[in-house]
Amino acid sequence: MASLIAKRIERLPVRAAGDGLLPAEVPVFRRRLMQWYRLNARKLPWRGVSDPYRTWVSEIMLQQTRVAAVIEHYHDFLWKFPTIVALALAPEAEVLAAWSGLGYYRRARMLHKAAQFITKEMGGVLPTDAVGLRTLPGVGDYTSAAIASISFGESVAVVDGNVERVLLRITGRAQVATAAAKTFVQGQASALVPKKKLEDGMNAAGDHNQAMMELGATVCLPKGPLCLECPVYGLCLTRGEHVTSARVAQRSLPAAFLLHLRKQGTVTEVLLYRRPADESLMPGMLELPPLPQEAVATREPLLRVRHSITNTNYYVQVFAARSARDKALLRVLPINDEGLEWVRTGRLASHPLTGLARKVLQRLDVMELRKVQIEGMELKASPLPVLPEMEQDEDEY
Ligand code: SF4
Repeated sequence: MASLIAKRIERLPVRAAGDGLLPAEVPVFRRRLMQWYRLNARKLPWRGVSDPYRTWVSEIMLQQTRVAAVIEHYHDFLWKFPTIVALALAPEAEVLAAWSGLGYYRRARMLHKAAQFITKEMGGVLPTDAVGLRTLPGVGDYTSAAIASISFGESVAVVDGNVERVLLRITGRAQVATAAAKTFVQGQASALVPKKKLEDGMNAAGDHNQAMMELGATVCLPKGPLCLECPVYGLCLTRGEHVTSARVAQRSLPAAFLLHLRKQGTVTEVLLYRRPADESLMPGMLELPPLPQEAVATREPLLRVRHSITNTNYYVQVFAARSARDKALLRVLPINDEGLEWVRTGRLASHPLTGLARKVLQRLDVMELRKVQIEGMELKASPLPVLPEMEQDEDEY
């Protein structure tokens, strides 16, 4: 990287490492960023939409989740719940089913709760500024600023992980998890966001915020930033990766599940387990019945798959209940029978499956794998397409 960067001859800024951008650099930064964004912005389904509800849904889905994964779910979700009121009136299980595969199901529950709150208390209309949006369940600083600027043109800075990384590198700062560091980044982002209000369809603040996030997502990458393509290279003190705090170590755990199918006339059903409502992780969601490790020690699994949730890698084995010996596994399920449910395989998509259950059922062809068309590309709808911080799709091992 160092030799490549040397080919782009631009002096380093005169600022000291760790200092904020100079006032004279701010308009230069904005102008270069926007010129680049107009030419390079990805065409994403939620860009250019005028309905704030759609922006809200996309921003909640995008939290710590890959864009490709969000694209897979965004249209389906809005087709099922086209308005805030439609979302508010839907049963929670339907909302979770539409969210299945995006992970962090608390986001879906909070979105649903917020829709109910808006419908009941606000006449079904979203607040139009960041302060009002912040009062909604599940809406924090990031989401309120994103909706307020993108939908309503409010001059308020959006700071997500991408924006933070860009600003730390531009100013030559290491990443440290302190309140002072957070305040510094927020201050830099606020200084950069244009102060102009929404005018004649021009949304300077909303476009700037989206451009900052786009730069972090496509050029100023966490590993191997594409500095030679960077529009603000001349203002950057780091020009490469910066010092970051150590990631939380991953731990590994084994897990085993049962796949049990039955025929009811022409219909095939699969046995699923509903997680108790008081579980801290994914309460009320459906998964394959779990098996104790000792019961499967000498058996050959039907499928092996690795699955990550937050900082844990699960090495998952799935066993089929087919032969008489296999069916003995049904007697060792360490769960309450009341939690077991037979679900038609043709209707799995309308149930709130955990991401792992969805992935396993799709890999074993029990559940249909949707295909998604995006900008002329056909993407296979991957079962768990999200970042390492959350539920994550992994290869079979
Ligand atoms: Fe700096 Fe490179 Fe990131 Fe651009 S891509 S902000 S030059 S580190």
